[in-house]
Amino acid sequence: MLTKKQWAFCLEQFGEMFPDAHCELVHDNPFELTIATLLSAQCTDVLVNRVTAELFKKYKTPEDYLAVDVEELQKDIRSIGLFRNKAKNIQALSQILVDNYGGEVPPNRDTMMTLPGVGRKTANVVVSNAFGIPALAVDTHVERVAKRLGMNRWKDSPLVVEEKIMRWTPMEKWTDTHHQIIFFGRYHCKAQNPGCNICPLLPLCREGKKRMKTNAK
Ligand code: SF4
Repeated sequence: MLTKKQWAFCLEQFGEMFPDAHCELVHDNPFELTIATLLSAQCTDVLVNRVTAELFKKYKTPEDYLAVDVEELQKDIRSIGLFRNKAKNIQALSQILVDNYGGEVPPNRDTMMTLPGVGRKTANVVVSNAFGIPALAVDTHVERVAKRLGMNRWKDSPLVVEEKIMRWTPMEKWTDTHHQIIFFGRYHCKAQNPGCNICPLLPLCREGKKRMKTNAK
């Protein structure tokens, strides 16, 4: 397993490789980021941005989403996976925001997680990016990179991964680290064909060493 010192080296490398890593979901405010992140479940940011480019022109507030039939909203997001359920969740959470929070997204992760369709990952993304509250969302890229490096065991849940990374990463770096690991996973340590042969982390990476050995045979 990776040591804390090795993890500190990984953090340096993530920062050097992707100093400008950022949230790639286009948004102008916490509410738009909440909708975009909810839509991004099992879907690429590129596709979400394509859909929200039009969606956010038509719907600007929770009230706007409540002013249409769910079928109309479903039609507006139909190119996104699980669109039927996501449209229902958007309307349900819009209703709660209007009824309980004055139409605003509450700047608190635990409160956010009570909203329909908003899990821990979505809540972490929104509080860190929209409110500047330190948090570290574990998505598919973060989980894959942490496990390949040997930071975590393969059987660990996303919550265990989140807790370990937060324990070994200075709090003020949580948000940047989240984006940098996502970029590292999305553009370098890809699910298929990771760039192990040019990876600065190869000397300490259990998965990379295994892959290089297999390729050499
Ligand atoms: Fe990913 Fe390969 Fe680098 Fe390991 S060596 S972090 S598997 S790209």
